[in-house]
Amino acid sequence: MKCRKCGKTAIINLRHHNVAYCAEHFKEYFEKRVEMTIKKYSMFSRKDKILVAVSGGKDSTTVWFVLAKLGYKVSGMNIDVGTVPADVNKLKDFASSIGSELITVDSRELLEGLTVPEAAKIVKRPVCSVCGSVRRYIMNKVASENGFTVLVTGHNLDDEASFLLGNLLNWNLDYLRRQKPVLPATEEGFSKKAKPLVLLTEKETFTYAFINNLPFSEEICPYSKEATSLHYKHMLNEIELKHPGTKLRFYDGFQKANLFEDNMVVELKKCNVCGYPTTTDVCSFCRMKERLKSAVGEQKV
Ligand SMILES: [Zn+2]
Ligand SMILES: [Zn+2]
Repeated sequence: MKCRKCGKTAIINLRHHNVAYCAEHFKEYFEKRVEMTIKKYSMFSRKDKILVAVSGGKDSTTVWFVLAKLGYKVSGMNIDVGTVPADVNKLKDFASSIGSELITVDSRELLEGLTVPEAAKIVKRPVCSVCGSVRRYIMNKVASENGFTVLVTGHNLDDEASFLLGNLLNWNLDYLRRQKPVLPATEEGFSKKAKPLVLLTEKETFTYAFINNLPFSEEICPYSKEATSLHYKHMLNEIELKHPGTKLRFYDGFQKANLFEDNMVVELKKCNVCGYPTTTDVCSFCRMKERLKSAVGEQKV
């Protein structure tokens, strides 16, 4: 197998594009594809102040690295929710090596001193669901308080294709409506959100992180082990093996079809307590906090 560009031995074969590359030309391909994705979906420009959600895993580390390399103004943010703590010193070193900065937030500060698993137990909700809403809330808060114009996450094509499959199998219309590579900011105070790796597979992202020697942890959150999305990923990979390009056609085709174009109107107002955009008078985060407060209070009495 030879690199299409230079004829040297290839390190990766991209069957969905029917092309193989050496390390050098794979890097070039990957970076061009990120740039193309940013332009294709009008995600952001070099004037934007970008905040990347950083977990220490390969996807978020890669998107942080690539955006810095491409000359975007980017900062990383790590949220410690009390599940799998990231190696913050390692992340700080990495940030300075790419000319970026790291912002750290401890979710306990906002959750009455409780970790996400502790809070989930009290409000009787699945850890992943509480974790997701706490992260979204904190990211939005940090972005709006610090003048960031775009929130970026490292979701790749495999992540998005498996969400899409799950959302279709369960006809989660609300999720399908919002499953886009970019979501605009809203007047009510939701920041713009973008996923620049959506057109790159997990294998491509892993290879890019690996050949660039990016420091990343492969630790999986203990609460996400049984995630159904992992099962969907395996199934999609089986189909992909026989029919290369399926994942990309599945995801990209859904975006092109734009099924929900005129259907985006959801009435939002500001939370009476914190000002966060919400569909109810008090946002779900503040309602959860209220329940935690009384639970913690009862324990102290
Ligand atoms: Zn080459
Ligand atoms: Zn609120």
